[in-house]
Amino acid sequence: MTIAHPGPGLRAGGAARGHPRKPPDPARAWARSLDRRRPGLVAFVLAELAALYGTPRRDTRLDPVSELVLTILSQNTADVNSERAFQAVRDAYPADGPIAVHRVVAPDGTEAPPEGWGGRGLDAGSAPDWAAVEHAPLDELIEVIRPGGLAPQKAPRIQGALRHVRETTGGYDLGFLAGMEPRAARDWLTEVPGIGKKTASIVLLFCFGLPLMPVDTHVERVSRRIGLVPPKAGPDEQHEIYRHLLAPGDVHAAHVLLIQHGRRTCHARRPACDRCPIAPRCRFLDSKAP
Ligand code: SF4
Repeated sequence: MTIAHPGPGLRAGGAARGHPRKPPDPARAWARSLDRRRPGLVAFVLAELAALYGTPRRDTRLDPVSELVLTILSQNTADVNSERAFQAVRDAYPADGPIAVHRVVAPDGTEAPPEGWGGRGLDAGSAPDWAAVEHAPLDELIEVIRPGGLAPQKAPRIQGALRHVRETTGGYDLGFLAGMEPRAARDWLTEVPGIGKKTASIVLLFCFGLPLMPVDTHVERVSRRIGLVPPKAGPDEQHEIYRHLLAPGDVHAAHVLLIQHGRRTCHARRPACDRCPIAPRCRFLDSKAP
């Protein structure tokens, strides 16, 4: 795996005569300093985690609007609950679109959700009738998605997002985002009410392969412990740092591997450091780890 080298920074000695000095980009500065202080750390982490969990495949998951709505449903709830709520939306507002298959069949014939997916995986099915969801009476939609938790907050958020998509694009198709520059696509999506960088990055990475790292609770915790990001870096800052830390082709693997590590080994309460291959270079165990 390769590490992205940030482009040339400001010229030593300041800005060229007559041009205002560009403010330094702290995310880029962090990535450069990490490369200098702890060379090869990103490549080491990705290689060790890939050896432990296997190299992730990028399976097709859902159409972009379904991914957007499912991600809203998954905010602050267990993935199995958001799956249940999404299934309920499909049942309540069915449509005749193409059937999407969400589970992947392993060589031994067993079925599993796509890699990096948090729940049990969805049954095969088509996207709901988004116009019906957008225009449903709010109380009705709240009841439909109640299994997902926080329904009174999420139902208006879903309808607001669908309204925004329809009003700005004339329909419920986000396919045009695939052709946009990744950050411009993310900016477009974060204009949707209730959509932050994490949700936008999930949609863009998993639906279109755009190299944007979604920073969820596992990625955030594991990254901080290892020292891939500054000790106090929150999700917003981490989203920016990862743009400079990773080569575009490594973003999907890094996201899935760090999530798997957070779920299976680097637990929030009691991380299993005694069986972790990152231990020799982890700042959680040694504040001077290389
Ligand atoms: S050594 Fe411990 S804290 Fe560090 S990444 Fe591994 S499990 Fe997490």
